[in-house]
Parts: sequence; C-alpha cells; structure tokens
Amino acid sequence: MTDTKRFHPVALFVLLTLAVTLYALAIEPFSGKCVGVQDGDTIEVMRSARAVRVRLDGIDCPEAGQDFGSRAKQFTSSMAFGKQVTVMPKEYDRYGRIVARVLADGKDISFELVKAGLAWHYKQYSSDPELAEAETMARAQQIGIWSMPNPISPRAYRRGERGGRVAAPSASPPQMIAAVFHGNVRSRVLHAPTCRYYDCKNCTAVFTSVEQAIKAGYRVHRECIHNAGVE
Ligand SMILES: [Zn+2]
Repeated sequence: MTDTKRFHPVALFVLLTLAVTLYALAIEPFSGKCVGVQDGDTIEVMRSARAVRVRLDGIDCPEAGQDFGSRAKQFTSSMAFGKQVTVMPKEYDRYGRIVARVLADGKDISFELVKAGLAWHYKQYSSDPELAEAETMARAQQIGIWSMPNPISPRAYRRGERGGRVAAPSASPPQMIAAVFHGNVRSRVLHAPTCRYYDCKNCTAVFTSVEQAIKAGYRVHRECIHNAGVE
C-alpha cells in the first residue's frame, strides 16, 4: 500500500526531466518583434503570439522622471521598436520579467545604452567587463548622464523618492533627492552619488546630509565629497 503513495523512480525521473526541459525552454533564446518600450531598460517582445516583458540585463537606465530618462527611452525605441530582435534570457526577476540581453540589428542594446551614457552598468547584478569598460569610457567622455555634475543613480533615486514620500509628501522639492549619500557600513566611509563606490556592496547606509553621517560616525571620502562641513 505504501508503494502506491510513493513516486515510482521512473515517474520521478520523467517529472524531473520535464521540469529541467521546461526551464531550459524558458531561458532559450528567441526572436520576436519588439512591440513596446516602457523605458530605456524595459521592452516588450512577441513570443509565441504573446507580448512578454523583457528587462535588459546588466544595466539600469534613468527613471522617467530623471534627467536623460526620456532620452534613454528614445534611444532604446530607435534601436528596437518595431524590429525583429533576439532575446537571450538569463533569468526571471521578482516581477516575472525576463532578464535578458537583447540584440537589435546585431547590436547589444544594454552595451549601446551604457556606451552612449544613457545607462549605468548595474554592478550589483552584473560583473560584465565590457559593460564596466563602456561605462568608464562614457564617464571619461562626459556624455549623457555623465555630462551632469551630480548624476543620481536610478537606484538612489528610487530610494530617495520613497523616503521623500514618507518624510515630506508634497513640500520637498525634487532637488532634495540629490542630497542622498551612501555610507559604507564596514569602513564607515561616506560617498556622494558621483562616486564609483556609491553603490558598493557595503554602501547600504543612507544619509540625506553629510552632517548627519558625520554625527553617525562616518568620515567623508575626499575624492567624492569636497568641502565637507565647510559652508
Ligand atoms: Zn566616494
């Protein structure tokens, strides 16, 4: 009687094979027409007669409300919209979107965006040396987001936006978001949004002023925060 309640080894094998096959199919590259562009890093592509949402891998574009947000969207649109693109899925994110590299006319959209200074290399999730190199070049050329003296990463922007909503619903001007500093909780060093260490692994402490961070025992990183404490 116990045998009927257990999976037969062969049945188990078949089920496992099926599961692995389904997963493999899910991350199998596919081609389809790009039928939508939500923003610089999120598009919609037809797959088996359905539009699926694809998040471009390895990058983070400025949000719609940020400087260069609409430029990034235009850039992606001109590269992909209405065209047959190749999607190379890596995984699914927590929103159920496919995270993928997407090729349009043989060009990697993630790479082109970073190269044009219209996206950050998303270092938390990607260690791609080509994206890192492309960002370094764009920064050096001061193009796109790097033409601004104080570019705010979308990650910091999203965080700042949330904080702003809680603290001061309508009175806080958008510029308040610029005053978000990240502190490295291990080294206790404070970084400005322009700093390459701003989104480092241990840079999880968030401060809205240098003074606040110093009171909390942080010291400023001289390379990225100048005239700290001097009015
Ligand atoms: Zn720094």
